[in-house]
Amino acid sequence: MNIDSIKNGIVIDHITAGRGMTLYNLLGLDSLDCSVAIIKNVASSKMGKKDIIKIDSEIDVDLDVLGYVDPGVTVNVIRNGALVEKKKIELPLILNGVIRCRNPRCITSTEPSIPQRFRLTDPNGPVYRCVWCEARAKAKNENE
Ligand code: ZN
Repeated sequence: MNIDSIKNGIVIDHITAGRGMTLYNLLGLDSLDCSVAIIKNVASSKMGKKDIIKIDSEIDVDLDVLGYVDPGVTVNVIRNGALVEKKKIELPLILNGVIRCRNPRCITSTEPSIPQRFRLTDPNGPVYRCVWCEARAKAKNENE
């Protein structure tokens, strides 16, 4: 499979091998009506192995989710079979509704109407903390 097989849609490339499913879930791609392909462990000269997600529709991909999970990814927008845009991904300063606070005493645990919101406190970690209780978000390499 390659980019050429999509006429209009999005290709998320250079996903760190193994993170394709995480992105699929966090981006809510299971709720799409169009076809979505996750290609795992594709040989990559740059990365060794990588995952690729192909979405057969030009949806608005949440770049904050991408930046949080895997800032090295490339988002390619395909129209009429041609690559028309490559989106640059950056580490998001604020995460809205991407991850949940784990602190049982956090106000978001007792008041579900309060949005889940985290801010970047250390770009080198990266470390995200809940804006309400300052609890540290789980690092991506920790298991759920
Ligand atoms: Zn919290």
